[in-house]
Amino acid sequence: MGRRHSSCSTAQLSISPSLLFSFVISLALGKAVAGDYLIGLGSYDTTGPAADVNMMGYANPSQNAAGIHFRLRARTFIVADPENSRTRFVFVNLDACMASDIVTLTVLDRLKGRYGDLYSQSNVAISGTHTHSGPGGYLQYVLYIVTSLGFVRQSFDALVDGIESSIIQAHENLRPGSVLLNKGELLGANINRSPSAYLNNPSEERALYQYDTDKDMTLLKFLDDERGPVGAFSWFATHGTFMNRSNQLISGDNKGAAARLMEDWYSEKLDADGAMFTDRRTFVAAFCQSNVGDTTPNVLGAVCIDTGLPCDFNHSTCNGKNELCIGRGPAFPDDFASTTIIGDRQFKKAADLFNSASEKLVGKIDFRHAYVDFSSLTVILPSTSPQDGNGPAVTTCPAAVGFSFAAGTTDGPGAFNFVQGDNQGNPFWKLIGGLLHPPTQEQKDCHKPKPILIDTGEMYVPYAWAPSVLPLQILRIGDFVILCVPSEFTTMAGRRLRQAVKTVLVEKGNGEFSNSTVVVIAGLTNSYSQYVTTFEEYQVQRYEGASTLYGPHTLSAYIQEFTKLATAMAIGEIVDQGPSPPNLLGKQIALLPGVILDDTPDNVSFGDVITNVPSHASYKAGDVVAASFWSADPRNDLFTEKTFALVEQLDKNGRWSPVYDDNDLSLRFLWSRPESLSPYSQATIRWEIPENSSPGTFRLHHFGAARPLLSPIKYFNGTSSTFVVS
Ligand code: ZN
Repeated sequence: MGRRHSSCSTAQLSISPSLLFSFVISLALGKAVAGDYLIGLGSYDTTGPAADVNMMGYANPSQNAAGIHFRLRARTFIVADPENSRTRFVFVNLDACMASDIVTLTVLDRLKGRYGDLYSQSNVAISGTHTHSGPGGYLQYVLYIVTSLGFVRQSFDALVDGIESSIIQAHENLRPGSVLLNKGELLGANINRSPSAYLNNPSEERALYQYDTDKDMTLLKFLDDERGPVGAFSWFATHGTFMNRSNQLISGDNKGAAARLMEDWYSEKLDADGAMFTDRRTFVAAFCQSNVGDTTPNVLGAVCIDTGLPCDFNHSTCNGKNELCIGRGPAFPDDFASTTIIGDRQFKKAADLFNSASEKLVGKIDFRHAYVDFSSLTVILPSTSPQDGNGPAVTTCPAAVGFSFAAGTTDGPGAFNFVQGDNQGNPFWKLIGGLLHPPTQEQKDCHKPKPILIDTGEMYVPYAWAPSVLPLQILRIGDFVILCVPSEFTTMAGRRLRQAVKTVLVEKGNGEFSNSTVVVIAGLTNSYSQYVTTFEEYQVQRYEGASTLYGPHTLSAYIQEFTKLATAMAIGEIVDQGPSPPNLLGKQIALLPGVILDDTPDNVSFGDVITNVPSHASYKAGDVVAASFWSADPRNDLFTEKTFALVEQLDKNGRWSPVYDDNDLSLRFLWSRPESLSPYSQATIRWEIPENSSPGTFRLHHFGAARPLLSPIKYFNGTSSTFVVS
């Protein structure tokens, strides 16, 4: 069943009068009835433009959206202190490659307009899942919007609107409840894609750990006092890179798939329990990203795809070239199947942790946040001998990326083509390509041994190419602590940061923290500044080291600044907010053309079938059914919380009812033009009949919106012939 479509709309979030009464009474008394916290969850569609817009992640200029694998969402939880409900924080898990400063700042502005100073930069975290198959153009710094031809308003608006709606839902759902914590090991869902860099870490340090990636999944289970479970958020590190660099369907990759599978699982559980319609509510399952830097979901490892031989260990090359060294997922080369398999492994682990969770979080809700300028930060390194006091002072550098950045990784060889100069087909690159800044000797020395490819931190034309001011944030629910970093920490970098913070909390926390305190990293949160490796990994200059923007001491700078935040949290002090990051929204250049005209050939209309399902055909589970229709550009209307494609089933009253939509893993919506400037376009609905599909009579139904010349948007739809599934 298309659960979300047919049975899980937010309209069912009704609150009974008695519940409302007890809630109001509990607020009036200043405490919850039985719960330890107030909790609220929300979820909203953030899919965005499903055509023509470059995908964010691989920086491949030809990877433009052309349909939907499944929809993207913003999933939110809010947790508040029942004694003082203004003490609260918001955590948003976003199906996007990463967070963005301008998205975060705009959401904060919207929240301020709506709720005053209840929400601010300090207590709102927006964290990307790192799917590489979402629409791009929503970041503010130049380097991250080259291949999307600059800023893309529709991508940006879809994210801001969806995040805001998801937070509003969570805010309005806030009710007495409790939070359970659980943790377990998940094997077979990540491996290290830069083991040669990991091996450069000290052997004594490596000996402390069994694996070269973190295998722990940490899960929060949210329980409403009256209604029972309302959701789960989990953190686990693995890249969102199954859907490869040529994929054109919007997809949440493995984390999005895991979320969808878990939400379906819970919905089916409610069905099996015979939950009443009025008792139904949205169950939100979110799979959050962690210290993802050197992880890959391609667990079969990388090989030279022409020969099947291992790639060069240090350089991930085949005969000196990177293009043929490709990481393989469990169903390689079927990326869709790999996405589902690794999504399913994460979902199953999360369901186990959910079912067996018993440790109830108690204690303070708290948060600390500071903006820190990473371009020239003095960092006092720890002393090598404890008697000496402090170690030497070093400094970070203005951002720059190294040569290996252009090579990409075994998850997707790079395509920025800076060295070859990709200035033929990209007008945005033409506009800015001549502006490359030669680094000074001081800058070169600061970044050593990284050879500088692009001196992004010292380039400001037409506006800043890379961030220098970064948001750092710590969130706390009792004995559970989230470190929000605007970057992709490698495995060992993440371990060092978590350990440093935990040590401070335990030492200075006056008994509030202990060795059993759980600290997780939420990667790609609030902003984006590429990678963070350890000093030792940096020396090797793999892709992650070349993308560590602020030089060899970047990680030490993070540890120093997070130690300050943790100290302030432990002893109950406030922190200086630091310099504000720039808001470059008003300066953005957007070169992607909008939709000019949709049309159809003579004698056909929008929605007419081009290729039909064979009539009277009969199918079984596992078969693929498809039909194509005359269509129009999906950018005319994003159909947010709606669908471009439906599988409908004939019910016993002779009516068609929806069973699968855009948001289902079994259904794909594919869109194309016959040629690039043609006003004609086609949509194909492709349905792979799931094992659990009920037998019956079905049809495929396409919905769209066309832009005729000089007249308003025109909505249309069309249906295929009927077919039987036995
Ligand atoms: Zn990444």
